Amino acid sequence: MSEFDYDLFVIGGGSGGVRAARVAAGECGASVGLAEMDRYGGTCVIRGCVPKKLMVFASEYGAMADEARAYGWDMTSGSFDWSAFHGHLTSELDRLEAVYRSLLKNSGVETFDARAEIVDPHTVKLSTGETRRAKHILIATGGRPVRPEMSNAHLGMVSDDIFHLEKLPKSLLIVGGGYIACEFAGIMNGLGVEVTQFYRGAQILRGFDEEARGLVAESMRDRGIDLHVGTNVLEMGRKGDASSGDGGPGSDAAMGMPAQERDHGAGVDEAGDGPIRVKSTHGHERDFDAVLFATGRVPNTADMGLAAVGVELGRNGQVVVNEYSQSSVPSIYAIGDVTDRVALTPVAIREGMAFVETVFKGNPTPVDHDLIPSAIFTQPEFGTVGLSEEAARDQEPVEIYCTSFRPMQSAFAGSDERVMMKLVVSKESRKVLGCHIVAPNAGEMIQLAGIAVKMGATKEDFDRTVAVHPTMSEEIVTMRNPVRTA
Ligand code: NDP
Repeated sequence: MSEFDYDLFVIGGGSGGVRAARVAAGECGASVGLAEMDRYGGTCVIRGCVPKKLMVFASEYGAMADEARAYGWDMTSGSFDWSAFHGHLTSELDRLEAVYRSLLKNSGVETFDARAEIVDPHTVKLSTGETRRAKHILIATGGRPVRPEMSNAHLGMVSDDIFHLEKLPKSLLIVGGGYIACEFAGIMNGLGVEVTQFYRGAQILRGFDEEARGLVAESMRDRGIDLHVGTNVLEMGRKGDASSGDGGPGSDAAMGMPAQERDHGAGVDEAGDGPIRVKSTHGHERDFDAVLFATGRVPNTADMGLAAVGVELGRNGQVVVNEYSQSSVPSIYAIGDVTDRVALTPVAIREGMAFVETVFKGNPTPVDHDLIPSAIFTQPEFGTVGLSEEAARDQEPVEIYCTSFRPMQSAFAGSDERVMMKLVVSKESRKVLGCHIVAPNAGEMIQLAGIAVKMGATKEDFDRTVAVHPTMSEEIVTMRNPVRTA
């Protein structure tokens, strides 16, 4: 009899963990256990990509009615019913969670609705009190949103809380300028919420192509989002209270909240308690019904016993892994957001597949993190793959091909909104180093452009491809002359 209960024990039932578990069990015949302390499906399915995208769809119908009128339809814009949508959303997430559970069951994975800690390189202890031994342990615990360290930060929500709102706030302040902040700004604005956004830097979406960031920011403002850059929250508190954290009424101390609890407990529970008064770093004070902190995420590694068993953790608390997702303890691997490499669902799934290939199929497979296409579901969307113009210029001489125009569909309806298509091309190799698209459905476009870029397509390969007419994306193969070289 084996000294182990399982060949593999997976901690975390999100996209990465579930994929690794079911492929190891289903395709490789491994005996697999998996523990999940919350809901199966993880961030992507329960409190991320999936409900977010459904909210993006919901938020776009209001403007569609306006556009339809320009096309001759006799349509009146109705009002949005959050509770009707939310009920439907909740049942859809329940359905998806059940799908995830059955995928595991049908692959022969034994699941535990429990929290797991690692007690030695081969043993996990579950919150049910049971212990299980496994030849390999895979940490796939993901990450969680964090609030900034400031007094009264608990009054603000984080992205997880949005999906539990009982009603929409009338006014919302979003803090941050990354993916989550910008996506929710568009969603909430589209649903009729008055949205203000504070970003501490000079331009939102730091790290992405500057021209594309500029157009996204301009479109967000044109659609009614009150976006302030170079601005942050200085102080916040309940209206009527002294808004600072100096011990006055409304401050943490005055609320009798112990220091260790101040960063927990979502503001959503308190959303009905009256407006939140926010003082900006420019000294302006304004009241908001709700505040959303979209100020980044951290890996879920706390209180898991990792350091004690010798698993090396990085500065953000991430599990440090090699190219095969193996930690500093040879029997323990980690994939997905908990490793703080590229925090995207399809990447976690890739890492899970590569782990199975390496450990259970005897075929050591490093994870390829190069040229990953992604989309930010702002309105309009921003699809991107490869290097920004700025990063490419630092690397080598480049030619920039770029066009910006009013697309046919919305221009006909009188909209001034512009789209942008851009190719960053190596002067020497002629390869397309980066492709950036800001347009409705740019996420769909960049998936396909991403294949060409990943294959190493040259500008001339793009040019040889016949345009599909009339589409927006045809511009990507019809840009004849560079707008600049650098
Ligand atoms: P990001 O790291 O993208 O953005 C965090 C934002 O918060 C940045 O603008 C940052 O500013 C700002 N910030 C950080 N700390 C503070 C602070 N103390 N005060 C004020 N502002 C602060 O994180 P997100 O949470 O938006 O997203 C996390 C990850 O999840 C993404 O990187 C992405 O990988 C993934 N994701 C992907 C999506 C998609 O594919 N469509 C959608 C949502 C998430 P600064 O720039 O100055 O650091």
